[in-house]
Amino acid sequence: MARRDLHTPRLYVDAPLQEGSTVALDPSQGNHLTNVLRLKSGDSVLVFNGRDGEWRASLAPVGKGRLAVAVGSRVRPQERPGDLHYLFAPLKHARLDFMAQKAVEMGASRLQPVLTRYVQVARVNLHRMRANAIEAAQQCGILTLPDIRAPVGLDRMIAERDPDRILVFCDEDAAVKDPVAALSTALPARRAGTLPIAVLVGPEGGFAADEREALCRLPNTVRLSLGPRILRADTAAVAALALVEAVLGDWR
Ligand code: SAH
Repeated sequence: MARRDLHTPRLYVDAPLQEGSTVALDPSQGNHLTNVLRLKSGDSVLVFNGRDGEWRASLAPVGKGRLAVAVGSRVRPQERPGDLHYLFAPLKHARLDFMAQKAVEMGASRLQPVLTRYVQVARVNLHRMRANAIEAAQQCGILTLPDIRAPVGLDRMIAERDPDRILVFCDEDAAVKDPVAALSTALPARRAGTLPIAVLVGPEGGFAADEREALCRLPNTVRLSLGPRILRADTAAVAALALVEAVLGDWR
């Protein structure tokens, strides 16, 4: 990875960024900077908005205790993210927060909740998922936020699936064998460029037998074992995404 400034706080903002512009921060962002990070007016930060690259900026007061950033020069151009969809049965609060953050750190470009038969929670707070994605993006240095999708049923996910996107179906019932070899079989014809990939992890209750059968019938699908132990879904997320990035994705 190119050397980056790891000490200056990075902030996500919504507004367009260009040299000389001033962008007001929302009050919770301002509070965090002043009360948690103890930054003051004039201190340096980095800002990104998911579209215009990364910019050096300095904190400036804008009255009533609110803060803004005065945007200086651009330090990184916008980069093209990988094409890795993370499909998952939603979990309960803290585990879902964790899973969303980790998936973003691992390079997921889309977070897609999928409702399966044994899913524990059918409603997903997309606002909260976006806040988790922003937190992870700020922390891990990426410039693009993932696309956050509303939940879909598994049937619809299957019906609307792009058959050219490799589906990595994480299945604890798959025979335990070399996962690197299993993923490598998806490669040969498609070595060039960024591979469109989707990784699917099920709910804590697992997939129903008919769901598993439907998934196994899909073309261009790798049924992946993550070893001989049953992993919690949030652990499976990190394990599967690490394998996929290492064999097919941007760790190569
Ligand atoms: N059906 C299981 C638990 C499911 S674990 C039970 O209740 O005993 C939740 C999800 O994590 C699974 O649906 C699967 O997608 C993934 N997972 C967990 N352990 C795995 C393993 N060893 N190999 C592949 N996937 C795994």
